[in-house]
Amino acid sequence: MDDTGTDSYDVVVAGGGIAGLTTALVLGRGRRRVAVVDAGSPRNSAAGHVHGYPGREGMPPRDLIAEVRREAAGYGVQLVRGTVASAQVPDAGPGEVRLEDGRRLAFRHLVLATGLRDVIPDLAGAAERWGRDLLQCPYCHGWETADRPLAVLGTAESSIQQALLVSTLSDDVTLIVQPGLEPDAEALDKLQVMGVDVVRGAARALKAPNDALAAVVLEDGREVPCEAVFCEPGADASSALVEDLGCALNEDGTIDTNSLGATSVSRVWAAGNAADPARQVVTAAGDAYRMAVSLNAILLQEDVAERLAAPRQPAAP
Ligand SMILES: Cc1cc2nc3c(=O)[nH]c(=O)nc-3n(C[C@H](O)[C@H](O)[C@H](O)COP(=O)(O)OP(=O)(O)OC[C@H]3O[C@@H](n4cnc5c(N)ncnc54)[C@H](O)[C@@H]3O)c2cc1C
Repeated sequence: MDDTGTDSYDVVVAGGGIAGLTTALVLGRGRRRVAVVDAGSPRNSAAGHVHGYPGREGMPPRDLIAEVRREAAGYGVQLVRGTVASAQVPDAGPGEVRLEDGRRLAFRHLVLATGLRDVIPDLAGAAERWGRDLLQCPYCHGWETADRPLAVLGTAESSIQQALLVSTLSDDVTLIVQPGLEPDAEALDKLQVMGVDVVRGAARALKAPNDALAAVVLEDGREVPCEAVFCEPGADASSALVEDLGCALNEDGTIDTNSLGATSVSRVWAAGNAADPARQVVTAAGDAYRMAVSLNAILLQEDVAERLAAPRQPAAP
């Protein structure tokens, strides 16, 4: 703690999902002083289980996070519950984050691992079903939905690929084509050979009489029976924090980084879904690991430069 009462760290990580915690684990094991500030809402918290994470297959998301928090804390990482509201990164000297409750933490480098918010389809009942039987990813939920009647909400060209992928899970798949999308003849041909039924009509609601999805209800009252529906949610990675810092963004609104994970703002890094909505748990962790190694190399460069610049005792004869 410095004279102003501010705790001081080599690295402050904003966001303690898998990307932020992996960053902290690597740097904590590297004997760096690290704090992770986390608001506690990882993207997959609506899902009952994490799939495709080797060694932890089927673990509830909160248990996985709790486990990695425990591991990081074991290497001296400071875990702070809260929300980073703003950050200042001067050209030289320590930067500072301010939390919503007014606490301040000083840092040499800042990592943004704040994830993203899924923008789910505007259907009655969607919020309650999200992550349960309204699903975004056949890799995350495919096995569990196999051989059941499935639907795919066709909102974009990429929904056609999603429907083809889902057709490898079940013989009963319906693509519900939404207004504005019209699959071309080639796409219709592919859907047909893969056994995907095509229905056109705006979806209005999800019908789940016994807290389990039974059908997608269309505006005209027709129902498409299904036990799970896949969709392509929008991704919103925006935050006042990122705006404040002035980080360059990708076209989809995520934070632009170079191949090492550095953003356009000096001493600010980004990992996980904050930088790429397609990263799954294992790839968000892998991405964060790689970024943490690059960041530690920069910290080492700074350490060496500082010692070289400091007055030194003449070497003993
Ligand atoms: C329903 C659903 C199910 C999924 N299932 C799987 C699956 O089975 N397998 C799989 O591999 N992937 C799955 N995913 C994808 C998975 O959720 C992401 O890959 C993963 O969460 C990315 O981790 P992250 O650390 O980048 O972001 P997150 O996990 O979203 O973590 C970001 C953290 O930062 C916090 N935060 C945000 N802003 C701030 C701030 N300003 N200050 C402090 N903290 C902040 C958030 O509260 C959150 O805790 C699923 C996604 C969804 C939507």
